Amino acid sequence: MQKKSHITLPSFATVEDVIEQLKPGYPVYCLRPAELKRQARFFLDSFPGRVMYAVKCNPHLTVLQALFDAGIRHFDTASLAEIALIREHFPQADCYFMHPVKARASILTAQDVYGIDHYVIDHEKELDKIIETTGSGDGRVILVRIVTPVHDAQYRLSDKFGIASDEAAELLQKVHKADFQTGIAFHVGSQCRTPQAFTDGVRTALDVIREANVPVHYLDVGGGFPALYEDDKPPALDDYFKVIEEAFDEAKIRRDCVLMCEPGRALVASGCSLLVQIQLRKDDKLYINDGVYQSLSETLVGKIKLPARLTNPRRQLSSQNQEFTILGPTCDCLDILPYQFILPDDAEEGDWIEIGQVGAYSNSAATRFNGFFPETFVSVDAAPLMPK
Ligand SMILES: *Cc1c(COP(=O)(O)O)cnc(C)c1O
Repeated sequence: MQKKSHITLPSFATVEDVIEQLKPGYPVYCLRPAELKRQARFFLDSFPGRVMYAVKCNPHLTVLQALFDAGIRHFDTASLAEIALIREHFPQADCYFMHPVKARASILTAQDVYGIDHYVIDHEKELDKIIETTGSGDGRVILVRIVTPVHDAQYRLSDKFGIASDEAAELLQKVHKADFQTGIAFHVGSQCRTPQAFTDGVRTALDVIREANVPVHYLDVGGGFPALYEDDKPPALDDYFKVIEEAFDEAKIRRDCVLMCEPGRALVASGCSLLVQIQLRKDDKLYINDGVYQSLSETLVGKIKLPARLTNPRRQLSSQNQEFTILGPTCDCLDILPYQFILPDDAEEGDWIEIGQVGAYSNSAATRFNGFFPETFVSVDAAPLMPK
């Protein structure tokens, strides 16, 4: 029986309705379940394989529920807490333990309590760890994460994880010998702007598979699919899916090899906006109630520019725009958004700013620094705020 455990959020037709009813002096995440479902269906319909969702990107239950309702049944989880979250709420969905470095207790618990049977490693010692804690494969799956050629991505994940491709074949053979089903995984880096990165990734995986000469059951091309931001208009997702399908077909690995992807950002970025309030204006500086230590860290660490609009249902806004510097609420000098926002020149204390495309890495990355922690979520029917 399906456990309907997700919380029902207060629901509003528009962001202006949120303002009228709550007059929020605190930040509000305005989730768009319809948009999340639309994007999930797009991935499920268009990606030529299995679609996993990378839970770390946004683990809010309403987000997970929308993706599940749209048909997502596979979740990339990296910690026991993420595994428990998915297993508790969606018992019929599959969890994959995709962190290449796991605590022994986590491996044991994942296996014994949650019945996890897909793991990722990028080093021989991690294979030993899994065997020492839970025995040999017995049909379970281990994917070897490899480093792939660098392309234009906003974050380079291969600096941290992945085995060099010339050492991967030997590890893959050891996985096979230990009676696990084998797979290869990679991650081209988050917000990757070149489809070619995936072609190169699949080809690198193919070289490893040929060298290892063992049966390979899974090829996981990871996440990294881009979202739309201000001044950042990457190729359409279909272009990525097309080159992945071509490279996979060309590779002719085995007919029963499962092709997978694990998007985070591109699935959920458009599914949430953030409603913040101006607390003080000093000339062209606007102090708001959310910042780089809460929902907006990606503006700083990822140099990501988000669409924004000023709104106040109580008054007519000026038709003249000007540039503003936006400052976050904490007492740290780092807490200043690193680019100028263009907003009506009469922006004032008490007005609100809706910031779009914050579904990815916003609430999931927020800290409690200085006592500012956004935790109000509502559901909004209106179309998402998109970049120009
Ligand atoms: C973060 C992460 C993802 C999601 O990446 P996006 O760039 O958000 O698509 C997928 N897989 C792994 C292993 C990750 O660490």
